[in-house]
Amino acid sequence: MLDTRTNVLYTGIMAGRLVSETLTKLSQMGDVTLHEPAGDRPHAERIRKARKQEFNLGGCIANLSTPKGPKPVLKSMMTTACERNCNYCVFRAGRAKTKRVTFSPDEMASAFEDLEHAGKVDGLFLSSGIIKGSVATQDKIIDTADIIRNKQRYGGYIHLKIMPGIEYDQLYRSMQLADRVSVNLEAPTSARLADLAPKKVFIEELLQMLQWAQRIRTENPHEKLASSVTQFVVGAVGDTDLELLSMTDKLYDQAKLARVYYSAFGPVPGTPFENLPATEAIREFRLYQSSFLLRDYTWDVEELPFLRDGNLRTDVDPKQAWADEHLLHQPIEIMRAEREQLMRVPGIGRVGAESIIRSRRRGKLSELIHLKRIGIRAPDKLAKYVLLDGRQPVHQLKLF
Ligand code: SF4
Repeated sequence: MLDTRTNVLYTGIMAGRLVSETLTKLSQMGDVTLHEPAGDRPHAERIRKARKQEFNLGGCIANLSTPKGPKPVLKSMMTTACERNCNYCVFRAGRAKTKRVTFSPDEMASAFEDLEHAGKVDGLFLSSGIIKGSVATQDKIIDTADIIRNKQRYGGYIHLKIMPGIEYDQLYRSMQLADRVSVNLEAPTSARLADLAPKKVFIEELLQMLQWAQRIRTENPHEKLASSVTQFVVGAVGDTDLELLSMTDKLYDQAKLARVYYSAFGPVPGTPFENLPATEAIREFRLYQSSFLLRDYTWDVEELPFLRDGNLRTDVDPKQAWADEHLLHQPIEIMRAEREQLMRVPGIGRVGAESIIRSRRRGKLSELIHLKRIGIRAPDKLAKYVLLDGRQPVHQLKLF
């Protein structure tokens, strides 16, 4: 019996070619990417659904932010069976409650084609549990993407998961077929990974994949090849923000990752970690803020305001915490500061810094209202960190 949302999708697809068995199988999988980039659904809601087994076809589709803009993407797996035993994972070997569903490449490609022709999806995120080893599993992922790209002639967004420890040529082929590939490191160090996922090998199986991906891009500069991303499971095994962000910094620098994702740990019943406390969503948020400072604002990881225990404060934006420590007694002169210095001020991003640099060529920025007029949204909040033409600005915006 299908639920209402699944039926709506079914009815839309019935008008075209129907692959009912495959769609039924898809509907049984629900949100298979519970520990993947979260798209438009809060992590807590996704965990709640996994707990209640509220699975339906609609659960396989999420609006994801892609390099081609936000898209409704089919998130699926070649199989929900797995021979590995990651301690947090709903699909781990031996978890009795998990429904095991397996697709052939033809089945998965047909299901995608039907949903895409029905206008329900425009993009594919394809992952898999591991059966008969990573190499055999990745072959199925590649075969599926090959059918979709080369037989169905689909030119839209495809994101492929890279299984741990696959062959170099498989990674290369995956990168030719996809817009994005992900190798989830899960943990920031070998020791943390051993606690999270005892059968995964940090350097040879995971880190090397990300290094190879960058090598493949560098050696084939004229080919259109996928960008790469990774994800960490945050907070289950004592990992600190310093560990996570140090690895993030290395990955941006050396493996040229497009993005690092953080997934606050949430306990899944029937796994060894079922009684561990969930990680607060605010920690995930602060990690994203810090990660963007490293990637887009040229910060060094040492500059982030870590506490003694290696974690960030959760009660304050990391940029503001840094500014409170460094700028209150040494404010930045808006009329003379370099672009990177301006971007250190809370409330001034890349666009704001450019706007300041353009405007000050035309005249003095000596009042907070001048900043407001050129697009700085809350100049009163940054007043304590700056000088305007040599003077500490007065908080007078409400008068204007
Ligand atoms: S390899 Fe680990 S994380 Fe991936 S599906 Fe299997 S148990 Fe889950």
